[in-house]
Amino acid sequence: MPHTATTSADPAASVPRASSTRLIHHPYVPPAEFEAPQPAVHKASTVFFPNVAAMRERQWMDKSAYTYGLHGTPTTFTLEERIATLEGGLQCLLAPSGLAALALVNLGLLKTGDEVLLPDNAYGPGKDLAAGELRQFGITHQVYDPMKPADLADRVTPRTRLVWLEAAGSVTLEFPDLLAQARLCRELGVLSALDNTWGAGLAFNPFNLDGRGLAVDISVQALTKYPSGGGDVLMGSVVTRDAALHRKLKLCHMRLGLGVGGNDAEAVLRALPTLPLRYAAADRSARRLAEWAARQAPFAQVLHPALPASPGHAHWQAVCGAADAAGQGAAASLFSVVIDEKFSREQVDAFCDALRLFRIGYSWGGPFSLVMPYELQTMRHDWPAHLARGTLVRFAIGLEDTADLQGDLQHAMQQTLA
Ligand SMILES: *Cc1c(COP(=O)(O)O)cnc(C)c1O
Repeated sequence: MPHTATTSADPAASVPRASSTRLIHHPYVPPAEFEAPQPAVHKASTVFFPNVAAMRERQWMDKSAYTYGLHGTPTTFTLEERIATLEGGLQCLLAPSGLAALALVNLGLLKTGDEVLLPDNAYGPGKDLAAGELRQFGITHQVYDPMKPADLADRVTPRTRLVWLEAAGSVTLEFPDLLAQARLCRELGVLSALDNTWGAGLAFNPFNLDGRGLAVDISVQALTKYPSGGGDVLMGSVVTRDAALHRKLKLCHMRLGLGVGGNDAEAVLRALPTLPLRYAAADRSARRLAEWAARQAPFAQVLHPALPASPGHAHWQAVCGAADAAGQGAAASLFSVVIDEKFSREQVDAFCDALRLFRIGYSWGGPFSLVMPYELQTMRHDWPAHLARGTLVRFAIGLEDTADLQGDLQHAMQQTLA
């Protein structure tokens, strides 16, 4: 029965044709309904229209129909829907990387003469975009102190169109007063965009920060990190709750030709059901390691917002404290140590090299634990008062056994930082 019911009704299908043609124009159409745990992977540049009238009628803007691969497939529409839901938003756009998502927001909302504000601890390539292309387009930027909301307020001028927020800072991990920052943007009538990669839609709700509806306007994520979870996909998302704002960004998204591949979208969809479990497990492990690190003499400072001594701990508690039932709050599995300045750069490099389980590499959110030394003096205007002097090393904790990771850190420390 299924075999006969599913051939196409095309009368031309019975005309004898060459095998090259038959390999392309085959009358068999698979049955419409196929339910399985994961959605299908749809891949397309071309999308077929049954006739010219349908082609003219279909609208790509409202996702009611398919027109061209770049404008979406069932697979990308599904992923957009899930990411919007994860973050408490209503609309989502996918971009080929987290950085492309940041660029989309800037290019979609800013024009010559406008100004954008960025926190001094912002994701580095985002700052580079402001100093490079945005400046070339006549869009100026200012960098504000993420730990002083008054500094942010002071820098807003009539030309300020967009304020970037980031919680926590992705290398230095200080947690800003996000509630005060979001309120300020609201009061000053300027759009706020949060780089929510650290929070991953799990540590807090960017569209309801205080439980009473305080929201940012835009939440961007590098899906590259926890949502993909494998260290093998690059993707970004831009989530909103305002249809007009989404439309503005979507038109820019279309004009820039941003799209994501079906296989990559499927990889993220496949990883999403385990996202909360992976995030929580890596969080637990990172906190135990950060607490251990705080007791080690070579580390002048340990930066992890859940540690009471870490900069912005109270702000972290204010927005992330209620995120899990156990009342422990939620945090990404990142922490940094400032290695005492009495150790040379060579010794710090030797420490990183001596680690066996921690691999040297950028990014985070995959199964592998990663380590990376950073040159803080090249990343900040001035050395922030809340950071100890020394060399900063960031650890991104993966899914290995915590005791094994601690043993690796201890061994490398004893070998190189004695
Ligand atoms: C990784 C990251 C990005 C960029 O994501 P890519 O997919 O690597 O381009 C942006 N912001 C933060 C905070 C990140 O950690």
